[in-house]
Amino acid sequence: MDRASLLQHAGEQTKAIHAGEFPDPATNASAPNLVMSTTFVASADTNFSVEGMEENGTWIYSRWGNPTVHQLEEKLAALEEAETAVAFASGMGAISALLLHVLKAGEHAVVSDVAYAALSEMTNDLIPRLGVEITKVNTSDLNALQAALKPNTKLVYIETPCNPLLRLTDIAAAATAAHRVGAKLAVDATFATPAATKPLQHGADFVIHSLTKYLGGHGDALGGAVLGYRSDLAALRKKTAIRLGGTLSPFNAWLILRGLATFPIRMKVHQENALKVAKYLELHPKVKRVIYPGLPSHPQHDLAKRQMKNFSGIITFQVENGKEVAQKLSQKLQIVHYAVSLGHHRTLIFYLSSEDLLQTSFRLSTPKQQESWNVFAGEGIFRLSVGLEDADDLIADLEQALLDDTE
Ligand SMILES: *Cc1c(COP(=O)(O)O)cnc(C)c1O
Repeated sequence: MDRASLLQHAGEQTKAIHAGEFPDPATNASAPNLVMSTTFVASADTNFSVEGMEENGTWIYSRWGNPTVHQLEEKLAALEEAETAVAFASGMGAISALLLHVLKAGEHAVVSDVAYAALSEMTNDLIPRLGVEITKVNTSDLNALQAALKPNTKLVYIETPCNPLLRLTDIAAAATAAHRVGAKLAVDATFATPAATKPLQHGADFVIHSLTKYLGGHGDALGGAVLGYRSDLAALRKKTAIRLGGTLSPFNAWLILRGLATFPIRMKVHQENALKVAKYLELHPKVKRVIYPGLPSHPQHDLAKRQMKNFSGIITFQVENGKEVAQKLSQKLQIVHYAVSLGHHRTLIFYLSSEDLLQTSFRLSTPKQQESWNVFAGEGIFRLSVGLEDADDLIADLEQALLDDTE
């Protein structure tokens, strides 16, 4: 059997280590090369416009394509079981390129009313300014999603579990609804990761990842990717990735490649630790509510069990006087970092006030949308991204930081 077919049928951990990589033919180096060159010596008949760029052609200019970035794209596609992947300088680079590729003036898109804040803000303002109509709905509510679809809807955009609520959307149901009106389904699966859910297998057309989170996994490189079918992504690469220029640095690609080698085993530990910490928090007298897809108390635990093979490592929880407790935790935590972002080997925690977020990012227009927000977030949530430290140490750190000074 040749290497390609062996790898195609290999397990996740083997793919994470070997897919996309090969010993360097010039030196026999076992680890991937870091190729920082921006330009490549060309032949006299090389095209000067990206219009004439051939897939699998020679390297020309690193914004068009780079060997190290290409190795990362191949590994990501193998892990997601996607035909192809396009890497970007950040998750937002991937998202903006996708929106500008799919949508044009006069068209309509349905976007989840709660999703990554920068995507929400961009679809409140920048995208409508281009003449694209946006409807925000709670995509977990299939009736609301269906009611929002129009004959000119070209894109349905969901996140599952969504940032920051950990509310889930049924991908297969959303895909069926979108396809019925001829729209494509894009799924931001940054929280789930391919270890939990492979949205293309549920009918999605595009998958988005912020590589900055679990895939890179070490909090030291920004990156993003869009994955899906070659027929869509070859044009996206030329039209929006290369021309808008938000392409990934080879150095970051190299760091993320290295992080990816341990991705499946990291996800097992993230899930194991998160479940222990979630159970601890559920019993804590100061904690009013814990949301974690792996707990039977999650309002959509059945969907989580059906759609997620791993419940990932992010927990939210609510307490009385969230802002004051945030102040205290930011000063008293010794191991857990009080910081934004998630999916790192280090545990991170951050407080998100509902009042603030509903002003800056999320526009909820109906009482039902507000009600769903309240169920998941109340007055505000701590978003806890459980890392790879020993779970008992994380619990001990949270325990001492949550104690009152008088206790
Ligand atoms: C972080 C994040 C993004 C944006 O990724 P960047 O790499 O920070 O640009 C998009 N979607 C989700 C769900 C995220 O958590």
